[in-house]
Amino acid sequence: MLEQEIRRLIREETRFRTGLGFDVHRLVEGRRLILGGVEISFELGLEGYSDADVLTHAVMDALLGAAALADIGVHFPDTDPRWKDADSLVLAGAVGDLVRQAGYEIEGVDAMVLAQRPKLSPHFPAMQANLARVLKVRLDQIGVKATTTEKLGFPGRGEGMAAMASALLRART
Ligand code: MG
Repeated sequence: MLEQEIRRLIREETRFRTGLGFDVHRLVEGRRLILGGVEISFELGLEGYSDADVLTHAVMDALLGAAALADIGVHFPDTDPRWKDADSLVLAGAVGDLVRQAGYEIEGVDAMVLAQRPKLSPHFPAMQANLARVLKVRLDQIGVKATTTEKLGFPGRGEGMAAMASALLRART
């Protein structure tokens, strides 16, 4: 009986997969600042091959990692002209589809941007709505937040922004 119960619990347990994502982009002049698909008015923008949406990139890597589907560099290489200036929200939608095709449902995503400036909190609801829409989940399944780094390190000096994310997937049974 006990063994059966333990087996059942293990089965339940392994229905869930977690993943983590991390990304960094440099802040430069003459680029738009796009985070979670929201264009934010700021004197600098993130540099990158795509739209350099560091938040969405971290979310994508968390989702891919949770499904053991490698990373965004494998799926959307920056040597492929299709991804030049790509809208990262579109790529995130494709990642959501990949994860579902692999047999998982997205239970939740939590993400954090590391940036000294500008103030990002007024934009959180729009970022959350964008990510929820493209990932086809409810708003309450997407967490978006930010922190400064107390002026320490590259985000603190305003040289770039970083983002980290975690994702929880549930295997369809
Ligand atoms: Mg990136």
